[in-house]
Amino acid sequence: MTEKLYYKDSYIHSFKAQVIACTEAKGGYGVILDKTAFFPEGGGQPSDAGTIGNAHVLDVQISKGDIIHYVSAPLNTGTVYDCKIDWDLRFRRMQNHSGEHLVSGIAHSKFGCDNVGFHMGNDCMTVDFNIELTRDALRFIEREANRAVYENVEISTVFPSQSELRTIDYRSKLDLADDVRLIVINGYDICACCAPHVARTGEIGVIKILSSMRHRGGVRLTMIAGRDAYDDYVVKHGYNAEISALLSSKPNETTDAVQHLLNTLQKTKFENSSLKRELAALYFSSASADQNGNVCVFCPSIDTDVVREHVNVLTSKYTGFCAAFSGSDDEGYRYIIASRDLDSRQFVSSLNAALGGRGGGSAKMVQGSVKALKSDIEVFFKSL
Ligand SMILES: [Zn+2]
Repeated sequence: MTEKLYYKDSYIHSFKAQVIACTEAKGGYGVILDKTAFFPEGGGQPSDAGTIGNAHVLDVQISKGDIIHYVSAPLNTGTVYDCKIDWDLRFRRMQNHSGEHLVSGIAHSKFGCDNVGFHMGNDCMTVDFNIELTRDALRFIEREANRAVYENVEISTVFPSQSELRTIDYRSKLDLADDVRLIVINGYDICACCAPHVARTGEIGVIKILSSMRHRGGVRLTMIAGRDAYDDYVVKHGYNAEISALLSSKPNETTDAVQHLLNTLQKTKFENSSLKRELAALYFSSASADQNGNVCVFCPSIDTDVVREHVNVLTSKYTGFCAAFSGSDDEGYRYIIASRDLDSRQFVSSLNAALGGRGGGSAKMVQGSVKALKSDIEVFFKSL
């Protein structure tokens, strides 16, 4: 049985350990040590990374009671190796996990919430409570959790006896029988947990609830703590500073500035749409049929819906093919061609063949595009 150094002291990040067994496994080697400070994946937290000798620790799992270190290179059984934990990664996780305990402890004591799910990802954690919480309640919990950080209270690990355990009110997701390990945050929380924690709340740093959503009759929080929260603040502060500079607004007035921009955009879109309709009406008002009863109108790029409406009006006036080409010689033209009585599909296949176009539709109306000059299109129409 491997001695769990991480269980008793979260701050051990380099240690010597003897290899008890090493076998080929999972694209590398599975190693059992006589003792380890590598935290194996569990309780929603990923496993530690680091090195054993020159081998990289890729994963650590508990399997049938054994702690297996999955490493990149074979190690000699019986040899004592220098072991190093990726301390930056581990300490960030300790900050996050202790921050989560504070939030869950306060949610439990003030609002009666039970933590029913926890997952620690690469850049944030999710915490599930069995009760829905209002925005005000979440603000309160976040503020109280950060207050507990300023108080810098002790976080201790205790292993109570069965009889002691019966007298302690502690949080737990599981029905635990023996060897219960409790994480005690003085005055704030007692929770059964297998993971490493910081020694005092001051080390947690900032605690921030990033978002919340309804989840299985309760709420799922996304939260972050410690250096991750600071890094997150730096990135988001940077975004806000950029937006502030772009909109020439004060940093604490960017929301108003963006709202103003959106209002202006909406107004401009409306005006633009009205102008396009007026412009289209002008182009189509002068349309007239040639000697064959066909009509061909050229207009700038205008919404397809607007052009279609005008083409429909033309088909009620003229008996031939009514065509609208919108675009320019440089960009090419989109066309809509319709006829009240004739088959537009036959017409458009000869148009496409003559001018290298593509498109189709029904007998009544076809749509498509040609990469041709206005003069070529006019020649084609005259040749009909
Ligand atoms: Zn925990």
